[in-house]
Amino acid sequence: MGRKFFVGGNWKCNGTVEEVKKIVSMLNEAEVPSEDIVEVVVSPPFVFLPLVKSLLRPDFLVAAQNCWVRKGGAFTGEISAEMLVNLGIPWVIIGHSERRSLLNETNEFVGDKVAYALSRGLKVIACVGETLEQRESGSTMDVVAAQTKAIADKVSSWDNIVLAYEPVWAIGTGKVATPAQAQEVHFELRKWLEANVSPAVAASTRIIYGGSVNGANCKELAKQLDIDGFLVGGASLKPEFVDIIKSAT
Ligand code: PGA
Repeated sequence: MGRKFFVGGNWKCNGTVEEVKKIVSMLNEAEVPSEDIVEVVVSPPFVFLPLVKSLLRPDFLVAAQNCWVRKGGAFTGEISAEMLVNLGIPWVIIGHSERRSLLNETNEFVGDKVAYALSRGLKVIACVGETLEQRESGSTMDVVAAQTKAIADKVSSWDNIVLAYEPVWAIGTGKVATPAQAQEVHFELRKWLEANVSPAVAASTRIIYGGSVNGANCKELAKQLDIDGFLVGGASLKPEFVDIIKSAT
């Protein structure tokens, strides 16, 4: 089906100039499968984007962790999609669970942001995922389907979207979803895309997993049929990120 493996590193709100330079040199020296096999995108905090872009090897790309929902202007503290485009930043993460929960981003707001970012020419890593409470009450699929629908309702093409399934209970907790648990949701999400968007979109859209992925658990996860890569938080700041990139093969 030709879905190229995708590995994103979400650095979240971490790092100093010195630390960022160290991570970038570690990445620049890494021997990893070629660009034809794996797409690698790292996402530093906004303030480090130009620095990382200028230092990072050309086969790895850069993503912002968020952007504003419409054209820039009188929105103090926000960063617009236009600014990212102007800086040559190709990717943006939208709808991360930390923003959904801590900053009250609704499904609809996330859908609007994805649509606006795409309209400006950005590629989007769109995140969905259920909380522990939702999983335990058996509503995982309802939750992720509603989150995905809010995006599908607003976009006309999925060509530039990577869908990241990140169960909230697995993020930063060390409690990774089992390969079977992750595969089940990825399979259901693909089925949802098939029924509600199109079979072609379901076949071509990369669905990546995030939540306590590390150098030790990535291989088994990567073997699952519907897992097309990872969005990595904590481990993306460490040398084991290179092992995660290598799990593409
Ligand atoms: P984690 O974070 O790998 O530290 O669990 C993943 C994410 O939030 O994208």
